[in-house]
Amino acid sequence: MTGVPEGTVPAVGTVRRLQALAVMGWPAARLSRETDLSAHLIHRLLSDALDTVTVTEHRAVAAVYDRLSAVSPGLDGVSHIAARATRDRATAANWPPPAAWDDDTIDDLAAIPQWTGHCGTTRGAEIHERDGLPLCPPCKDALYRRHLRDGARAARRAARRATPPCA
Ligand SMILES: [Zn+2]
Repeated sequence: MTGVPEGTVPAVGTVRRLQALAVMGWPAARLSRETDLSAHLIHRLLSDALDTVTVTEHRAVAAVYDRLSAVSPGLDGVSHIAARATRDRATAANWPPPAAWDDDTIDDLAAIPQWTGHCGTTRGAEIHERDGLPLCPPCKDALYRRHLRDGARAARRAARRATPPCA
């Protein structure tokens, strides 16, 4: 791997896990306590400001994610108000929830969150619309590709019309 200092791994999976826990309503302060990582580091990771984490940090967050992503914060000592505020901020930032990630690919740089089960296709874009979810970038791209395709098709039709038959 290039560009990743020894003893570290890309931060992407760690960021995704922390953001997904925030979508559930787990506050940064609690994540800091559970992972034994500083609140400052948790905030930096949540805002996707770091490219790499140490293997220890990666493992700490992955273990906490495995545990907390299966529990409702309200049932585990997080106040309703704190959970709500965390959830609201996370949702406003369009962070994907745990359900959008596959445990096998959450660390894969190329993986995209599956909001719809069909993200990255126009079908996915339709499901976003149906469910009132903001479009994710891959679905936006899929719509754009369709737009280009439709445009090219219309241009071809217009060109055919402009050419006299049997010319
Ligand atoms: Zn999508």
